Amino acid sequence: MVGGWDEGVKKELAERLISQAEEMVPDLRQRIALQVSSTPITIERMTGNRWGAAYGWAQIPRQAGIYRLNRVSPIEGLYLAGHWTAPGGGVAAAMASGKITADLIGQRLMEGR
Ligand SMILES: Cc1cc2nc3c(=O)[nH]c(=O)nc-3n(C[C@H](O)[C@H](O)[C@H](O)COP(=O)(O)OP(=O)(O)OC[C@H]3O[C@@H](n4cnc5c(N)ncnc54)[C@H](O)[C@@H]3O)c2cc1C
Repeated sequence: MVGGWDEGVKKELAERLISQAEEMVPDLRQRIALQVSSTPITIERMTGNRWGAAYGWAQIPRQAGIYRLNRVSPIEGLYLAGHWTAPGGGVAAAMASGKITADLIGQRLMEGR
């Protein structure tokens, strides 16, 4: 599990963000009815993504596009989709990845492979 995200840090960062936002929205603090904070630990717990990686592999050049996981895995019949594969992280890219993988599987089925 990723470290360095205890309650103290969480509260301090939340306070800092609210203070910054208050420069734009006066009295914001008094108007907050419900406040929820999350950290990489929260994301890890909710998604199972190691270290709370919100977008899969970091989107740096050596891990982007064709350098992400191949949608055709070495295990026969196992295909991959989602933000750990190409095209990459984010909702739109994960959806595109699912469509590309589904199309590939459909094409292979049509060809009897
Ligand atoms: C806080 C946060 C904010 C974000 N904001 C944005 C944004 O503003 N815009 C944007 O484009 N993207 C955003 N993203 C990124 C985006 O949500 C992801 O890139 C995208 O949802 C990835 O989709 P996915 O289907 O690959 O993975 P997920 O949506 O993580 O789906 C994977 C699923 O697999 C399940 N799972 C995991 N392990 C197992 C297992 N062993 N067995 C069965 N099921 C399992 C998980 O529970 C989950 O439901 C954000 C992400 C986070 C965490």
